[in-house]
Parts: sequence; C-alpha cells; structure tokens
Amino acid sequence: MEQPWRKQIPLMVRRLWSQLQTPHVPTYLVGGAVRDLLRGVRPHDYDLASSRTPEQVMDWAHQHGWRVIATGLRFGTVSLYDPHSPHCIIEHTTLRREGRYHDGRHPEQVVWTDDIEEDLARRDFTMNALALTWEGRLIDPYGGQDDLKRGIITCVGDAHRRLSEDPLRIWRALRFVGMDHHGQPFQLAPSLEYAIGHLWPQLTRISVERQRDELWRLLQSVHFARALWKAERLGLLAVIWPHWRMTQGFVQRNPYHRYMLNHHLLYTAGEGPTPLLRLAGLLHDIGKPWTYTLDANGQGHFYGHAEKGAVLAKNLLESLHFDHKTIASVTALIAHHMYPWENVQAKTLRRIAREWGDEHVQQLWILRKMDIIGAGYQDHWVSEEMVKRRWNEAFIHSSSRRRLAINGKDIMRWLNLSPGPEVGKWLKQVQMWVDDDPAVNDPYILKERILKAIK
Ligand code: ATP
Ligand code: MG
Repeated sequence: MEQPWRKQIPLMVRRLWSQLQTPHVPTYLVGGAVRDLLRGVRPHDYDLASSRTPEQVMDWAHQHGWRVIATGLRFGTVSLYDPHSPHCIIEHTTLRREGRYHDGRHPEQVVWTDDIEEDLARRDFTMNALALTWEGRLIDPYGGQDDLKRGIITCVGDAHRRLSEDPLRIWRALRFVGMDHHGQPFQLAPSLEYAIGHLWPQLTRISVERQRDELWRLLQSVHFARALWKAERLGLLAVIWPHWRMTQGFVQRNPYHRYMLNHHLLYTAGEGPTPLLRLAGLLHDIGKPWTYTLDANGQGHFYGHAEKGAVLAKNLLESLHFDHKTIASVTALIAHHMYPWENVQAKTLRRIAREWGDEHVQQLWILRKMDIIGAGYQDHWVSEEMVKRRWNEAFIHSSSRRRLAINGKDIMRWLNLSPGPEVGKWLKQVQMWVDDDPAVNDPYILKERILKAIK
C-alpha cells in the first residue's frame, strides 16, 4: 500500500484489515472511505469487503477477539469492534452481486461473489465504486477517480435504471453535491440530474427514516446551501414536505423582504452555522402562507406565523421521524423567532433568559441574524448588534445570571416550613424579585423581603 494512505487509516482499521487479509482471501477497503482518502479528507467510517460470508466473518471474529454485531446479514454486513474500543466500529460486507430490484429498495436476490469488480458494479456512483487492495492498488473500473478529480457525481451505469432500483440514491446524490471540490460543490452529471428530474416521485417508495438520515447528512456538508438549492429546484423538498409547495413563488409584499418565500427560507438556512439552525432556518417562516393578510395599502402581513409555523414544522419533522430533542429545539426556535427583543425591558429579558435557558436564547439570536441576512438586508443586522449589546448588558453580566443568593433550605428555616410546594412558590417569588432588580440578590435583603411579605 502507498505510504500516505496507510498512515491516514486508523490503527484499529489497519489491524483488522491486516488480520483479515490473506493471499487466498484478499480483503479490500471499499466505498466512501477510499473516495475520501483520494480527496485527502478523513473518512468518517470504514468499510472492508472480502469473499468471506457473514457467518465466516462472525466465526473468525470470535476466534480473533473481535466483537460482532449482525448489522445486515441478508446483505452480508457485519460490524466489528475491539472490546476495548467499542466506539470504533468497522463494517465488513461480503462481496456481492445483485439481482433485479422488485420493490425499489431491496434486490430480489443477493449472490455472494469473489470478484471485486462485480461488487463495485452494484454501487451507486463511480466515486463510490472504488476499492483499495491491502498492497495499495486502486481498483477503479468505472473511472471514479477521474470523476472525483472533475468534481462530478455520475452513476455506475445508466442513471435512470440505477435510481429506479433504489430511489434513495436521489438523496445520496444531493448530499454529495454538498461535498467540497476545491472550494466548490460537486456537480450532478447531466444524465443524473435529468434522471432525478423524472424520478423524484419515486422517493415516496423509500422509508422516511432513510431520507431523513440523508437530509441530515446533507445539512452537515460543506456546501449544504448549494445542495439545498439544488434539492429545492429538483422538487425534492416538496416531496418530503408537501407544505413546502405553498412557499414556492410566494411573494411577501412586505418592505422587510426582498425575496420570494422559498428563496428567503433557502437563504436563511444558508446562513446557519449548525445543522439544527439550518433546519430551523429552512422552516422558520413555513407558517407565512397560512397567516397572510393584505392591508389597504397593499402590504402583506403574517400575524401569528411563528406560532403557526412551529405547529407545521412539528408535523413535518415528525413525519420524517426526527428525534424528539431535535423536534423540540427546532419548533421552539420557530415559535420564538419573532420575539421583539428591541422593545422589552431588562427585567423581562432576564425572565426570558431564565425560562428559556441560555442556549436557546443564544440560538435565537443566531436565527435572527440568519433571518435578517436571509431577507437580503445585511445592513439591518448592524442595528441589531446594538440591540444585542443592550441585551447582553441587561442580563449576561448581571447578578441574576449567578445563582440565587438563597435556597429552599433558607426559606424553610426562616418560615418554619417543611419541604413542599410552598417552598417552591417562595423560590419563584424570590426569583421574580431578583429578575426585577438584580441588586436585591443578597441573603439579608431577601430574608427581610420574605418576612415582610408574610406579614
Ligand atoms: P459517507 O462518507 O457519508 O459514509 P458513503 O458513500 O461511505 O458516505 P455509506 O452509507 O457509508 O456512504 O455507504 C458505503 C458505500 O456503500 C458507498 O460508498 C457506496 O459504495 C455503497 N452504497 C451505500 N448506499 C448505497 C445505495 N443506496 N446504493 C448503492 N450503493 C450504496
Ligand atoms: Mg461511509
């Protein structure tokens, strides 16, 4: 194997690979890991392949001290890990050839083979149909390395047929658009783009979980914004989220907005620093078409769109089976994204920060920035920065950010109470006093106030 590659592969992978490899049973590194090594990017998972059947791999693993998980036996995949490093999981997949696909998801029959080229033929894109031998020879029967150099995503074989076999490849293609190619996104080969333009309705045959996973990976990619625009233009966002259609071409008739709603959502998502904020940005105004009113001056308004949007977004994310935490965060961000920070007093800001939590409030600020820049008004953000400074002064450095100067035990002692809801009520009251005026966060002052209040 050529030295530079060998060094980049983690020790654990090399150890497993060297143990599995024999002159009679060549074992290959395959797929995305080879692609990323060629691009000079650290792969995030490693797949090995050989002609050993899953049962043989499992027996072998038991004899050699590796733990196994039977991940996808029917398709030949077994996950292996060292019991001392359970987080480093390496997959082994038996070389296979696929028969016809009857339902667009699973090949009718899977036939094991010992021919690596046959195995590569069933893979989705030329840049993923690569294998590396233990000696360091690249096996590239479909010109994957060339396509990688040109930054082009091309199917192995006929695009129309390959996407029909497994329409999930549509989402996979789009998430690879987000991959970096010398500072630019990857491009879909014209034949692939054309096939996606025809075959997107077939995505409904694919489980929502698999689509969600690919969307989430897309949101993590370097050029996620370009990939999202492409996905939208090819109609894919409307496939997963039927409500998305109502945003397409929607003119907002509002002086704060330069763009049509779908474009505003895409621009806003494009400003997001994390996948979660990108998702929130993408959906934050989804409630607008439902709350649109036009006043006598011909100006559009969207009263209540944040609340409506939060409800819609919850449905949309639930329909893709997103996890509970992601749904809760995104919907709370959307529900609160119109909060009028500029007009509230410092004490209200302190209360909000306490009730919503620092992290949520920080994220809301970022979403607000994304929203303003995504509306085409970069300059408005400058005045926002001033509001933010005032806001920071109001609470970040104030004493209310520290813990309360007293606790429940103090209250029980002073008022001769036993543990119970009464103590909680007092703590809430004390917190309100401190929000109103952080200067009272002092045990003597608070004790005095409590004793006075009880009288
Ligand atoms: P990543 O870097 O995100 O892991 P990947 O291409 O390695 O991307 P995996 O899901 O790890 O994606 O799949 C490993 C390999 O299996 C791919 O590189 C490809 O060769 C093959 N593969 C995965 N999914 C499909 C599919 N739906 N159709 C055909 N081949 C696939
Ligand atoms: Mg991979």
